Amino acid sequence: GSCKKAGLLLWRKLMPIVPYDQREGFIWLNGQLVPWGDARVHVLTHGLHYASAVFEGMRAYDGQIFKLTEHNQRLHESAKILDFEIPYSVAELDKAAREVLRANKLADAYVRPIAWRGSEQMGVAAQATKINLAVAAWDWGSYFDPAARTKGLRLKIAHYRRPDPRTAPAKSKAAGLYMICTIEKHRAEREGYADALMLDWRGQIAESTGANIFFVKDGVLHTPLPDCFLDGITRRTVIGLAKQRGLKVIERAILPEEMADFSECFITGTAAEVTPVSEIGPYRFAIGDITRNLMDDYSALVHRAKAGTAKIAAVG
Ligand code: PMP
Repeated sequence: GSCKKAGLLLWRKLMPIVPYDQREGFIWLNGQLVPWGDARVHVLTHGLHYASAVFEGMRAYDGQIFKLTEHNQRLHESAKILDFEIPYSVAELDKAAREVLRANKLADAYVRPIAWRGSEQMGVAAQATKINLAVAAWDWGSYFDPAARTKGLRLKIAHYRRPDPRTAPAKSKAAGLYMICTIEKHRAEREGYADALMLDWRGQIAESTGANIFFVKDGVLHTPLPDCFLDGITRRTVIGLAKQRGLKVIERAILPEEMADFSECFITGTAAEVTPVSEIGPYRFAIGDITRNLMDDYSALVHRAKAGTAKIAAVG
């Protein structure tokens, strides 16, 4: 029974998956599709040593990449914030992502563009480095255990906090900003939680390690103002969907103690989609109608984006 199930889950977790550098297919690298195994970097690469790298994560549904252009625009912005310019236009990046999907015969997939500084210069200064760009895609089902959609996620409150925007380039989807996320995700998983809730430098609620957060109180949605973390594309989409349902959405500073008065909670992100949260530290949440409706609306929207009703996708 449950013992067998627990064993299966453990096996899944420990079973070696095919390493990401040893898969089959094609990756778009600096202007062309190359065989998967040929998309390599040298150990003396600025991006590796100094985290001069920015990336994106998008999902394709039924062969159509949701919010493709918005993601590639954000990639451009992220690079600018890190003081480099991506040598391909947003339109070229859109085209590259579609080519990668086609070459790998993927319809439902996660798409990962990444831009990084190369090997032409080592040291903090990097003006002479070439900017590299790769786009890969792979099959990536549910980001969390699919049971979370019905049971909700358990989150642990993180030790590290999202930095003050004067301390880090908070608006950039920069590789370096994920350092504390990995530490906190590991700490949470070690203790049996699915993820961590990060507060910000002021002690206000910020986000999880890879998704934005929403709460429900008396039929109204409350979500933190994204002033020191990513204003997620999914976050903005869900705010639009909520408003279409006539729901009120309040973006404001939220203190952790307020969680005692919230009835529902969910997180939003490209990988996480809309996933309910059942527990954060000592606080408990129900998976209520608002969460369920928004999960359904989001799912319908990302799949409908294909059917030529792209206007609906313009919400938020
Ligand atoms: N915050 C963090 C730290 C993330 O990694 C992500 C995923 N990109 C998000 C929020 C949500 O962003 P989006 O909805 O644009 O995927």
